[in-house]
Amino acid sequence: MKAVAAQLDNCCGCQQCNVCGVDAISYDGEMKVVINADNCVGCGACVGTCPCGVLEMQ
Ligand code: SF4
Ligand code: SF4
Repeated sequence: MKAVAAQLDNCCGCQQCNVCGVDAISYDGEMKVVINADNCVGCGACVGTCPCGVLEMQ
């Protein structure tokens, strides 16, 4: 399981998901979340932090 920005259109760039301990989360030029699947270790910590339901484990 990895974190996925399944509802990316809903991302408002609030960066409340900036909790990743392995640098798998970054933000693009419009401050939309970017998940680096190669770095993600599947801990799930980021998913519950998003107030907009953007992130899911898949
Ligand atoms: S699931 Fe864990 S390792 Fe993966 S992006 Fe979220 S916080 Fe980082
Ligand atoms: S917490 Fe959710 S809405 Fe905020 S930047 Fe992260 S994915 Fe986007």
